[in-house]
Amino acid sequence: MAEVLVYVDHVDGAVRKPTLELLTLARRLGEPVAVALGAGAARTAGTLGEHGAVRVLTSEAAEYGDYLVVPKVDALQAAVESVSPAAVLVSSSAEGKEVAARLALRIGSGLITDAVDVEAGADGPVATQSVFAASFTTRSKVSRGVPVITVKPNSAPVEAAAGAGAVEELAVSFSEQASGTKVTSRTARESSGRPELTEAAIVVSGGRGVNGAENFALIEALADSLGAAVGASRAAVDAGWYPHSNQVGQTGKTVSPQLYIASGISGAIQHRAGMQTSKTIVAINKDEEAPIFELVDYGVVGDLFNVVPQLTEEVNTR
Ligand code: FAD
Repeated sequence: MAEVLVYVDHVDGAVRKPTLELLTLARRLGEPVAVALGAGAARTAGTLGEHGAVRVLTSEAAEYGDYLVVPKVDALQAAVESVSPAAVLVSSSAEGKEVAARLALRIGSGLITDAVDVEAGADGPVATQSVFAASFTTRSKVSRGVPVITVKPNSAPVEAAAGAGAVEELAVSFSEQASGTKVTSRTARESSGRPELTEAAIVVSGGRGVNGAENFALIEALADSLGAAVGASRAAVDAGWYPHSNQVGQTGKTVSPQLYIASGISGAIQHRAGMQTSKTIVAINKDEEAPIFELVDYGVVGDLFNVVPQLTEEVNTR
C-alpha cells in the first residue's frame, strides 16, 4: 500500500489536533507516515501511533527552533525522497502553508491549499476546497509529482486507529538557505485558557451588536460554559473591543468548527467567508431580516443581552 506523509504540528511532543485530523484523511489514501521535527519530536510517536501512523520519521536538530521554515522544508524534502509518498498532507496554519508551498516548489510538484476534504481518486488524491466566500466548492488534483495538500483544521474527525508508530531517525542535510532567517527572540502570548480559534470545536463570536469591549464578557462567559474559543467580527475588532487575532472572516481567520454561535453579527459576506463551512451555525440577532439568518441552522431573534446570559446559565446547569 502507498504511504502518505503527514507533517506533524506539535509543541514539545504534544501533538496538536489538526495533525490527528490529517491522519484520518491520510488513512483514506494509504498508510500514514508522520514527520515530526524539533524538540520533543520522538515523544509524538505514542499519540501518532494511536491514530494510525505506521512510522514516525523524527529529527530533533536545533536548526528547527533556531531558524524559520527552511530547515523544515529540507527535512520534508528528505522524507519525500526517502518514502516516495502518494501525497504529503500539511495542516493549513500560516506556517504549514509556507512549508507546503516551499516544499512543492522544491520537489517540482503541485500544491493545493485550504482543502476541506481529501479522498482517494483513480489517479491520485482529490481535494475539495470551498472558495469565493464558500459560494462554490471545487474538487481538484495535482497532475504532476507528489501532491502537497494543506487541509483546514476541523475538516475531518479525529479517529483512533492502530498503527505501529515506529520511530525512525530522518537523515537531513540542511541547505544553505536554512540558516538564512534566524529566530532572535520568542514571546509567549498570555494564554486565555481557551482553545485556539482555528482548532476549536465550538466558537462563540460577537459583533457590533455586543456594543462595547466590556460586554464581550458575556460572549466569553458563554464560550467558557461550552469550552469554546471566542471570535469577533471586524466591526468589533475595528472598534477595539477584541483583538485582531480573534477576528473571523476574509481578513481574519477561517474557522470550521462543529458549532459556530454568532451574536450581534449581521452576516456580511466577508464575515461568512471565515465561518460558512462550520457544521452547525446558530445566530442570535435582534433583526429578523439580518442576512446571517440565511445561512443558520438555528436562529434566535432577540436581544443578545437577554439571550446570551440565559443560554450561558442553561449550559452551566447541565
Ligand atoms: P454589523 O453589520 O453592524 O451588524 C451588527 C448586527 O448586530 C446587526 O445585524 C444588528 O441587528 C445586530 N444587533 C445589534 N444589537 C443587537 C443586540 N442587542 N442583540 C442582538 N443583535 C444585535 N468583517 C468580518 O467580520 N471579518 C472580516 O474578516 C472582514 N473582512 C473584510 C474585508 C474587506 C475588504 C471589507 C470591505 C470588509 C470586511 N469585513 C469583515 C467587514 C464586513 O463587511 C462587515 O462590515 C462586518 O462583518 C460587520 O460586522 P458586524 O456584523 O459585527 O456589524
